[in-house]
Amino acid sequence: MRFTPQDEEFRTEVREWLKANLTGPFAGLRGAGGPGREHERPAERLAWNRHLAAAGWTCLGWPAEYGGRGAPLAQQVIFHEEYARAGAPARISIVGEELLGPTLIAFGTPDQKKRFLPPIKAVTELWCQGYSEPGAGSDLAAIATRADRDADDWVITGQKVWTSLAHLSDWCFVLARTEPGSKRSHGLSYLLVPMRQPGVTVRPIRQLTGTSEFNEVFFDGARTAAANVVGAPGDGWRIAKATLAIERGAAMLGQQVGFRRELDNLLDAARRTEAGADPLLRDKLARAWIGLEVIRAYALDTLGGDDDTEASVLKILWSRWHKQLGELAMDVQGAESAITRGEPYDLDEWQRLFLFSRADTIYGGSDEIQRNIIASRALGLPR
Ligand SMILES: Cc1cc2nc3c(=O)[nH]c(=O)nc-3n(C[C@H](O)[C@H](O)[C@H](O)COP(=O)(O)OP(=O)(O)OC[C@H]3O[C@@H](n4cnc5c(N)ncnc54)[C@H](O)[C@@H]3O)c2cc1C
Repeated sequence: MRFTPQDEEFRTEVREWLKANLTGPFAGLRGAGGPGREHERPAERLAWNRHLAAAGWTCLGWPAEYGGRGAPLAQQVIFHEEYARAGAPARISIVGEELLGPTLIAFGTPDQKKRFLPPIKAVTELWCQGYSEPGAGSDLAAIATRADRDADDWVITGQKVWTSLAHLSDWCFVLARTEPGSKRSHGLSYLLVPMRQPGVTVRPIRQLTGTSEFNEVFFDGARTAAANVVGAPGDGWRIAKATLAIERGAAMLGQQVGFRRELDNLLDAARRTEAGADPLLRDKLARAWIGLEVIRAYALDTLGGDDDTEASVLKILWSRWHKQLGELAMDVQGAESAITRGEPYDLDEWQRLFLFSRADTIYGGSDEIQRNIIASRALGLPR
């Protein structure tokens, strides 16, 4: 990817806007939120997210007719780079903006686009993703949550799990079995379900980090209008897979750029301590730096493509790299890294990184599943 002079002008515009706006009530939000830190100042981050939206800095890649800027990929990359460089807080609207929005733009009816896209863009409705169940994770086609038609509604019964940010969400896109007796990927539908209703119970799951950013979600006769199905009833698998392709592609970009800041901070810490003089640690730090260069090059080279093996390679590259960065952070801190400051879960940023990055090789499709995809699709090996 090459950046043109216009792209560089755009970079200056983003940089200056962030500099001028991450001030006043928002100044203290630098670095807040993100994986393992979603509990940090959600209300203020929501206000910041709305401020971004009002200035036209959400949904950059969406076509202008849906409220986006139709920004080319290069400018989306630039936005994410500058956003991370400025230490701007993690956006709370990410699931709606990065996953559901593009799915609706591709597959939604005109009415669905009109109803759901503007509040995603304005950050007045937050979304979560209801795919995984206790018996259906990697094997997503084993979905058991059911939705039955009752007059003008779907009535949903079942359980989802690991639902990120469900406790903050207004809506959930739910993969449910709508054809009784159907098997595997057949007979599933992609439903848009309001979260704030009596038939929905959200129970936080406490994580290794001591915080709770994902949840169990129970549907017990929850309702949504018949029209809130994306694609035809029974065609949910195709739509769900399209969302997953988006999840494993461009949407990861902002997160990867944040890795640069973590590595830079770790290098700073290593320079200030004896760790930086340890030959083995120096070697590992140099490898980490090289690893990130490789990830960036691969991401920029493959971004925007629709080859799922490339998306799988990228997922494996970044997830393993980030997990190793967490381990390296513990090495740099030395023996003290094993001790919390006060309360058992009073973690510093490195301890939180170490613990939360264990999840990187699981969510968005585990490393084993990504390697299966590469083995069968890129290498042509038998299943
Ligand atoms: C931080 C985090 C956030 C998440 N957020 C969401 C969310 O918002 N919404 C949502 O729907 N889900 C979410 N998930 C769930 C995530 O998608 C699943 O955890 C993931 O798909 C793996 O499924 P599982 O946990 O059921 O593990 P399992 O599928 O039971 O896998 C267990 C182990 O077996 C391995 N395995 C399974 N099948 C195979 C195979 N065929 N070949 C080789 N190895 C295999 C896996 O790699 C893994 O190591 C989240 C998960 C995490 C960790």
